[in-house]
Amino acid sequence: MEGVSPSRVEDAPRVKLRGLDVVWFQVAGTICNLRCTHCFISCTPENDTFKFLSLETCKVHLAEAARLGAKEFYFTGGESFANPEMCDILAEAVRYGSATVLTNATLLRDSTLKRLRQIRQSTEHAVELRVSIDGYTAEMNDALRGEGAFDRAMKGVADLVAHGFRPIITITRTWCGCDDEVLAGFVAALERAGYDGPRLKVLPLLKLGAEEDRTGGYCTQARVTQQMMCGYDTSQLLCSHARMVTDHGVWVCPILLDSPEARMGDTLSDALGDYPLRHAACHTCWSCGAICSNAPTPSAG
Ligand code: SF4
Ligand code: SF4
Repeated sequence: MEGVSPSRVEDAPRVKLRGLDVVWFQVAGTICNLRCTHCFISCTPENDTFKFLSLETCKVHLAEAARLGAKEFYFTGGESFANPEMCDILAEAVRYGSATVLTNATLLRDSTLKRLRQIRQSTEHAVELRVSIDGYTAEMNDALRGEGAFDRAMKGVADLVAHGFRPIITITRTWCGCDDEVLAGFVAALERAGYDGPRLKVLPLLKLGAEEDRTGGYCTQARVTQQMMCGYDTSQLLCSHARMVTDHGVWVCPILLDSPEARMGDTLSDALGDYPLRHAACHTCWSCGAICSNAPTPSAG
């Protein structure tokens, strides 16, 4: 759970949903084959606080999302491909719009890779894979992600490239200082694995969940105030144009999964109201912007 209590609702600036453009699905719940020490929702193989979303459940929410105007869908967990219905859910999603699957790329079997390629070839909509890797060497990555995770993820990336994908490699900024050396290390490692000109996205650390235990979490001053929103472009905040479906209902965004206050209703139609930025993690969104989209993100300072 979030260590710093939410601020009072009446003190928090509110963000309006300008339109439901994007819907996220917590498709693997909090279940993951890895147990990364910086995971902001503390996913592990045993954590089934949030469970897999079924194909039938996703069909209902996808149809509602499309009726409400959504054209872009993201699938996350946990490890998305731990859900045995992930590919069927993806095939359903691309009937309505573009789709991105977030993965640690360690569970990509041949049959999964072939199916992903078929789905991409079957649709005019974009199909993207986002692969999380947090170091350009086994030593750097596996310190956070567990022994063997680097080799398995790099093989997963190589396999995706061999099947015609250009995955977005997402890297959590866990180092101090300048990004240039680290990003050059990633480019070199990925090119050695056969991925030329890799797409990279740097994410700021979200000091929640396991990361809170690792480094102490947010300080009490980490808040978005009314004054900080003067002249601020809210369109870069995910909560201004997206919502997230879980097996427990609809949440404001994927970042606040562990915050019960972030549950907005049972259905997407229940969750179209504005939302108070009362959480410490909102400060990370405020300062970094666009951290959840596929767009490259400025690294956190
Ligand atoms: S950070 Fe990603 S890969 Fe690691 S435990 Fe969390 S969900 Fe799994
Ligand atoms: S964590 Fe980010 S996306 Fe979620 S409500 Fe706060 S500002 Fe919006």
